[in-house]
Amino acid sequence: MPSFNTHLHPAVPPTDHEHHQVIIVGAGPTGLFLGLKLAREGIDVLVLEGERGIMQSPRATTYMPVVLNEFEKVGLLQDVIDGGHINSDGVVFRTPAGKGDKVLARMSLSVVPKGVNKFDYAGIHMGQHQLAAIIQKRAELCPTFGIRFSHRFAGATQDADKVRVCMVTNRGEKWFSADYVVGCDGAGSSVRRSLGIPFEGSTWDDFRFVATNVKYPGFDKYNFPTANMIVDPEDWAVVARTGKPEEGIWRVAFGVRTDVPDDKILEQIPAKFAELLPGTAEERKECELLNASPYWAHQRVAAEYVVGRIILAGDAAHSNNPIGGLGLTTGLMDAAALGTILIRLLVKGDADKSDQLLRRYGDVRRKAFVEYSNPQSMENKLRLHSEDPTVVESRDEFFRALNTKPKETSIMMASQMNEFLDEDFSA
Ligand SMILES: Cc1cc2nc3c(=O)[nH]c(=O)nc-3n(C[C@H](O)[C@H](O)[C@H](O)COP(=O)(O)OP(=O)(O)OC[C@H]3O[C@@H](n4cnc5c(N)ncnc54)[C@H](O)[C@@H]3O)c2cc1C
Repeated sequence: MPSFNTHLHPAVPPTDHEHHQVIIVGAGPTGLFLGLKLAREGIDVLVLEGERGIMQSPRATTYMPVVLNEFEKVGLLQDVIDGGHINSDGVVFRTPAGKGDKVLARMSLSVVPKGVNKFDYAGIHMGQHQLAAIIQKRAELCPTFGIRFSHRFAGATQDADKVRVCMVTNRGEKWFSADYVVGCDGAGSSVRRSLGIPFEGSTWDDFRFVATNVKYPGFDKYNFPTANMIVDPEDWAVVARTGKPEEGIWRVAFGVRTDVPDDKILEQIPAKFAELLPGTAEERKECELLNASPYWAHQRVAAEYVVGRIILAGDAAHSNNPIGGLGLTTGLMDAAALGTILIRLLVKGDADKSDQLLRRYGDVRRKAFVEYSNPQSMENKLRLHSEDPTVVESRDEFFRALNTKPKETSIMMASQMNEFLDEDFSA
């Protein structure tokens, strides 16, 4: 070794690790919500996020009553109400502005009696990055909650008692250990991949999604309600507020054929906006594009959600196309269920039931995705654009039911969401 001062940063040996009861990989809304639920019960939880801050890309906008129930249980609901916009309008199905802007049907959850849902509105709208920031702020009030950015998961090993995790940081590798590690690191989950768990299913090869956020006064001028589904074989889309009306920001998400090359995708925006934005060409010049991101859409699920003491939740465990807003809804419900179980294992004296309860988490939550979120999200997407005669017939039937029996049809749609109960985990 040289005798002069080298300023060498000594490598941390893998045995010298920092221990926490639960380590969550990924500071998306799923990971943060789970962290909040656990930290409120005094569990020592550390969230490790690969990026330097919370991801800002335009993704989820809508949080449904089933999720709001869970927010209420951890004291988060009022923060979300204060930060977002309550959708009392329901959802309107319509044709593109450039093709007549005809209202086809309207789903209104305000006609659903209390008792089916606790809330008589369709949901709360706000950007996913804003929701994540609100959850993080509330979690940071708990003394046992910790979060570190620029920590990227690289791998893990486990034995019967704990998991050892290697994270890559700006200062090299850092080692941690935990009683349980939860992979909430999104659809490209490194935690899932490191366990060799297949992500079963497929990726849509007809359209890619482009999500844009815009400021366009025309939506208010032409009386667009909070959530709109645009039905058309090519120019199908979702148009929805991303927050409070005074912010004036709308999500316009549409499909672009997969034969359009990557570097030409965003060039499709002007032509799509000409079809989707109401108003004259002159009025459309007022549209301010705030951001835009293309996405591949998947219908995939992890073959297993639990391997020993490593568990998957949120998009790390499943991924579906965004029409109908079921992706994060399902992820937040995973977090709620897993939170209940980890509290039982770590606080309520059920440590000896670890395998049994975690297996139950995996079975119930995988089933919820496979039997509800996955087929429902596929139906939601096809309803917007498919010309398949069976889909056309079922779309017509659905719109007819909404138009002739709005109350019954809306109750049916609202009750389908109640696919999760805490009691499922009391065994
Ligand atoms: C256009 C669009 C609109 C959508 N709209 C809705 C909607 O309205 N409602 C709805 O319910 N869902 C919607 N979704 C789906 C929703 O965005 C996802 O389901 C949601 O992001 C999942 O949250 P998550 O926390 O599980 O994962 P993510 O939000 O993907 O978060 C994962 C986190 O893990 C981090 N990470 C990744 N790898 C590592 C690593 N190796 N080490 C450490 N950290 C890592 C990432 O940086 C990220 O912060 C939409 C999706 C899209 C694309």
